[in-house]
Amino acid sequence: MSGPFTTTVVGSFSRPRDLIEASKKRAKGEIPQAELDVQLERATEATIRGEEEAGLDVITDGEQRRSSFVSFVGDKIPGFKVMHITELNPDAMEILKRNKVQLTYMRAVVTEELRDAVIAADEFEKARRYSKKPFKVTLPAPYLVMWESWHRTHSEGAYPTPEDFGYAYAKLLRNEVGRLRDAGVSFVQLDEPMLGDLTEAGDKPDRYRNVFRELYGQEYRGFKEELKLAVDMLNEVVKGVSGVKIGVHMDRWPNKDSPYFDQGYERFLPELLEARTSQWILEYTSQGTGDPAKLVKEFPDGVEIGLGVISVQNYEVESPEQVVARAERVIGSIEPERIWLNPDCGFAPGMFRTFPREIAFAKLKSMTEAAGILRKKYA
Ligand SMILES: [Zn+2]
Repeated sequence: MSGPFTTTVVGSFSRPRDLIEASKKRAKGEIPQAELDVQLERATEATIRGEEEAGLDVITDGEQRRSSFVSFVGDKIPGFKVMHITELNPDAMEILKRNKVQLTYMRAVVTEELRDAVIAADEFEKARRYSKKPFKVTLPAPYLVMWESWHRTHSEGAYPTPEDFGYAYAKLLRNEVGRLRDAGVSFVQLDEPMLGDLTEAGDKPDRYRNVFRELYGQEYRGFKEELKLAVDMLNEVVKGVSGVKIGVHMDRWPNKDSPYFDQGYERFLPELLEARTSQWILEYTSQGTGDPAKLVKEFPDGVEIGLGVISVQNYEVESPEQVVARAERVIGSIEPERIWLNPDCGFAPGMFRTFPREIAFAKLKSMTEAAGILRKKYA
């Protein structure tokens, strides 16, 4: 799995039109589950086939079976209730607009004590039939899920504080990581966009935490405290786990109005390095994300970067040379064996995000060609 410049994706691909149609019909009870299952199977196969044709080294199932990269856990783990955002706060739409934040409207909120359940191992069992290559499986990380799912009114009875809930979820996640490893998954990626968004926070919270305060009644703990909590929860997941590569993905949405524009995840040093993860999967193609070399040169031995070299925001297919130039930003600061190449983020974190699949696959093809050029040049 690990050559220099190993290529993979962050996780999600947009769903084929037939699958989206079938999901809508199923939600209205117009077709039986078996009919939706056929579309889910087709979408999974087509996505994996596309990844293989693009030449990726490590495969995902494109999260085709998930409604969204985070709220799908609500369908899997008993203890969550899926609620419309206006049930959390009647002014939800106005709050989103005012803060310039987009959230999916159906939210998984914790209302009862969680029980252990399969989260993604079932998806992997179905996906593995379509490729012999190593697989990566993504899971929403606990600090994210704590912010996304603990609501002061609806959750307090089950978990008095968001932290109680976050740690309880982290322990369940550890069980799932074990199940995935035992099933043959090579790489588990914990998705932590809420931590990534903290790059925009300081004494005052960033816009996401503002929104969650208003919608969910949660409180910002301060920059360092939030960072330490996120890292500690990640470590709770991986405590005692071996035999599988664990990576953490963070988003980065640079905001021109923010005082932290042009700074990156290096704001999280040194606390970030306390996380027991072997790879950080990070966004670096947008303006204002900072310099990846500043971060990677501080990585302890053995820790890799999953470098974002493909934009998931625009439909312009990067040339291999462009991708090579993006990768070269970290060359000299970390060995080639510790550089993985991936797009910045998933192409469609939610079911209804449209990103033309053929453009996504063309971008990946460019990325694998770039990996070939880089291997010749640096390996
Ligand atoms: Zn992302």
